[in-house]
Amino acid sequence: MMRTKEEILEEARRRNVRFVRLQFTDVLGILKNVAIPVSQLEKALDNEIMFDGSSIEGYTRIEESDMNLRPDYDTFTVFPWRTQEGASVARLICDVHRPSGEPFVGDPRFVLKRVLEEVKSLGFTAYAGPECEFFLFRLGSDGTPTTHTQDQGGYFDLGPVDLGEDARREIVITLEEMGFEVEASHHEVAEGQHEIDFRYDTALTTADNVATFKYVTRAIARRHGLHATFMPKPLFGVNGSGMHTHLSLFADGENAFYDPKGPYQLSKTALSFIAGLMEHAPGFTAITNPLVNSYKRLVPGYEAPVYVSWSAHNRSAMVRVPASREKGTRVELRSPDPSSNPYLALAVMLKGGLDGVKRGLEPPASVDQNIFEMSPAERREYGIRSLPGSIEAALERLKEDTVVREALGEHVYTHFVRAKELEWDLYRTQISRWELDQYLGIF
Ligand code: GLN
Ligand code: MG
Ligand code: MG
Ligand code: MG
Repeated sequence: MMRTKEEILEEARRRNVRFVRLQFTDVLGILKNVAIPVSQLEKALDNEIMFDGSSIEGYTRIEESDMNLRPDYDTFTVFPWRTQEGASVARLICDVHRPSGEPFVGDPRFVLKRVLEEVKSLGFTAYAGPECEFFLFRLGSDGTPTTHTQDQGGYFDLGPVDLGEDARREIVITLEEMGFEVEASHHEVAEGQHEIDFRYDTALTTADNVATFKYVTRAIARRHGLHATFMPKPLFGVNGSGMHTHLSLFADGENAFYDPKGPYQLSKTALSFIAGLMEHAPGFTAITNPLVNSYKRLVPGYEAPVYVSWSAHNRSAMVRVPASREKGTRVELRSPDPSSNPYLALAVMLKGGLDGVKRGLEPPASVDQNIFEMSPAERREYGIRSLPGSIEAALERLKEDTVVREALGEHVYTHFVRAKELEWDLYRTQISRWELDQYLGIF
């Protein structure tokens, strides 16, 4: 649905919008806002709003800091909650441009758009559907997050025991009021852990939706005295939070992954896409799993993948093919986590899969037994590689993967690697509670 400027201005008037948040993300995936009073909305819609990009991670140097925000009209949404004075707040997701007019290469949304141009040039449309997991923790009396949960709930549990249930219900209602089609929401395996699944959409819309989803989830949780965290592994010894991502390509309105005569009813395109994901997974893990903490989730025993493998059946594989066929034929990549920048994450996953399609790669045999129960020798025999075990290792693999680097572009690649190397260096020189407990008394 294409909206016009007049329609947006009309809606803003009708719904008593007082402020408009112009949103975009930095290279690390943090949602940024420039709030403008509604009197400036027309100017914003005419692409006349400038902001200082020099303080945004991965943006420009001081001497060229002026950036221009260009709203995507289709993303105009009025938040369902109101200000104290009863007025409404709306938002527009924006593309970032240079003052001279060209798109800014450091804008993650532009990075995804560039990959989507390639998808299109090959005759495809890419769809993506995420499963976002998160924890709801209590806020401390000083308003800072704790790691204490409220509930005793488990996977799919029903029950009145859970304060988090109320918060989750309100998150779902709010998302629906904002136009999301929520397909499922449930308690996850760990205490205090939840999942909300919204309907798949074209890749750019899905990336916008993930950014919005995280923002809304945090905002509503806070009203319930809870902190929603997308940190991949907040607690030792229990499941972490993933963002399994379902991907499919369509051509001429048909699902290009479906072939009733193919192996597992999968087309050659689907198999090559899987092969591409597998070839580039080590290279793109730094993007899909960007925190030091991400690698504490990617360990055996907690339903998160550790090995590069695919399967039509089992969930220990990195790529799973859900049972649904025909229009619903898709692959599920289980390695990404919700701390990733959704624009960059979708860009590198699609680029990796697409590289497989372009080169007509064939995936290795589907592994239908539990990979975690195999011996290292068995895994070697199947040629099963491991995902990187730390952000440090993941950055090394990223450096070697020219396809993933091309997807990011030189600007984003350089800033990302620099920021992450710094993060790793800070982390590796810390002295942790675990080390003190283990060593201090004995040595
Ligand atoms: N939380 C698990 C992960 O880290 C997934 C659990 C599930 O959805 N079955 O990926
Ligand atoms: Mg799920
Ligand atoms: Mg889940
Ligand atoms: Mg899943």
